Order: sequence, then structure tokens, then C-alpha cells
Amino acid sequence: CGIVGYCGPRKAMPVLMQGLRQLEYRGYDSSGVALLQGESIKVIKKQGKLNNLEQALPSRSASTLGIAHTRWATHGRVSDENAHPHESADGRVAVVHNGIIDNYVALKEELITKGYSFLSETDSEVLAHLIEDYLKQNPEKPEDAVKSALRRIEGTYGIIVLFRDHPDLLVGARNGSPLIVGVGEKEMFLASDATAFIGLSRQAIYLEDGEMAILTPKQYKTINRQDREVEKTVEQVDIDE
Ligand code: GLU
Repeated sequence: CGIVGYCGPRKAMPVLMQGLRQLEYRGYDSSGVALLQGESIKVIKKQGKLNNLEQALPSRSASTLGIAHTRWATHGRVSDENAHPHESADGRVAVVHNGIIDNYVALKEELITKGYSFLSETDSEVLAHLIEDYLKQNPEKPEDAVKSALRRIEGTYGIIVLFRDHPDLLVGARNGSPLIVGVGEKEMFLASDATAFIGLSRQAIYLEDGEMAILTPKQYKTINRQDREVEKTVEQVDIDE
């Protein structure tokens, strides 16, 4: 129901938790975070209130890049396993998703035939395995793997993806679910709602359906479905703190 991502010099965990707190009013049944820590992605997710997640989190984490999610279950029951983020089996990819993947049953069958095993009952998990599958073909082009995976998806999405082997990178994309880039000073935020980064960044880029944002702490790039770079205007966020 809500997604948040951060990359920059700050510790990611408190930024992400603040973001999730701001998104709480929209309602949710589970929540989770993925943090890029050293050589691996650490995923912590819990059903129930944000306090449940908070209790399961490490007291501190040096991670400066991560993604987070509040879930409103549409496919699969409310459980820790079905909470997001979802990880690829090889541990290289983690993804958070808002929306509904209409053709997930067919994609899931295809991926199972290819040898991928599923840990959740959600529609969203197909994204993690699809991205892994495309990433294997071209490990140096993570944004292309996301593009290829999204071409296979029918339905609605706001997603944020992080990659174990690209420790500076966040990729976000939307189709029918909101996604906003917060442009900071050597840091970037991504969220389904600009209130998630209130007090941290007031400069925002509002993505349109079919657009993708490729972010590193110092740079952003936005591309459209035709794979063309689009010039977006950075707008002033107009909400009360
Ligand atoms: N369809 C996904 C699920 O059930 C995402 C739901 C959401 O937008 O929170 O896990």
C-alpha cells in the first residue's frame, strides 16, 4: 500500500521507518524493509503493526541504501512470508510492490518450470524472480533487467528495486500506482507519497505511468516506455510538516 526507498549518506533504516510511519494513515496489514548491508541484502518483514517490524529490526544498521513497504494484501494471506520486500533466490535482488499483477499465475508457472521456487503466495514475488532471470543475462545492466521484467507484467505497479551487486543504485517504476522521487543534496528518496520524505527533501519529481527512475545518491535519470530519457521538472513539495 505504501513504498519508500533511500540512497545517500544517511543511515537508511531510520529514514525508511519514518517514511513508513508517514504512510501508516493509508492502512496496511504488514510491513518490511530491505537494507543493503556489506555484501548482502538483509530483509526483515512482519505481519501486523509497524511496532512488530520495529521490534524485529536490529538496533542499528550502518546501511545507507534500502527499500520499505506497507502491505495491504490483495493476493495471499496476511503473513510474514507474504509481506514485502521479496527477494530473488540468488539474493541479488529485492523488490517492493504496490498494485496487482494480473498475469502472475502464468508468470509463476513459467518461472517454476525454469526452476525458481516461490516463498510467498503473492502476485508480487514473480517480480523478484523475473528480474533475477533477466539480470543473469546481463549482470552489468540492472535497469535493463527491470525494464525487461516490466514488459512481461500486466497490471498495476509502483515498485522499487535494489541490487546486491550495485550498492549505489535504486530503480523505481510506476504504472497505475503513484511514485515520487525526492531529490536531495547527494541523496535520493523514492516514495508512493511525498509525505514519506517530509522534513528530508522538498524537491520532488512526479513520475508518470510508464516511467522509470534510475537513482544513485548524486544523480537521477528518468526514462519512458520507449526507453527514451525524459526531462522532468523538479517541483517544490507543498505539504505542511
Ligand atoms: N498485490 C500485492 C500483495 O498482495 C501488493 C499489495 C499492496 O499494494 O500493498 O502483496
